[in-house]
Amino acid sequence: MLKLNTIVLAFVTICIFSLNSFAQSKKSKKVNNRDTVKIVPKSEWKGVEGRPYKQHVPVKITVHHEGGKLLTVNDDAKQRLKNIQTWGMGPDRKWADVPYHLLITPDGTVLEGRNPLTVGETNTEYDPTGHLLICFLGNYNEQKLDEKLLKVLTDLLVDQCIKYNIPATEISTHRDHSKQTTCPGDDIYSYFSNGFIVKEVEKGLKERN
Ligand SMILES: [Zn+2]
Repeated sequence: MLKLNTIVLAFVTICIFSLNSFAQSKKSKKVNNRDTVKIVPKSEWKGVEGRPYKQHVPVKITVHHEGGKLLTVNDDAKQRLKNIQTWGMGPDRKWADVPYHLLITPDGTVLEGRNPLTVGETNTEYDPTGHLLICFLGNYNEQKLDEKLLKVLTDLLVDQCIKYNIPATEISTHRDHSKQTTCPGDDIYSYFSNGFIVKEVEKGLKERN
């Protein structure tokens, strides 16, 4: 009986050890997911934790702009995002968090938004389930992307395509999914309608494979 116990104990120990190394290897794979763009954590813009919400796994990426007020490099983008969160989670919208998963400021900083594994939110008629939402703060009907912002966007898109195994052809903009909006603004949209962004991301994915 004692011998059997010893064998069982040895077996359990081996199982735990293998599970542990499996978890470790998964973890190191995750650390190694080759993010090239730093994502500034929520705590740095004083964001509060989101409320629990519908889960999903992103299978496509949709690019937005905030719309409304202009935002320049001299404005406080972190405060802008904090205000969006306070408004969105308040009585006006009752959202679980900011509506977007990642946000890009006019100086090219990328800020963490809602948990990417929860569905985003929208004021328009499309269903954002399965969409990873990337949003430029500010209004790109009136502002313009510069070379730096284009590079941040394409690098970030490549990172996210690799992370979620999304093909570049599944990248589009809000107005491709909704007739109720001009989002992401004429300037950003022009880089999608001429195929520039998808081509750059395809190039980036090839270089990093
Ligand atoms: Zn939008």
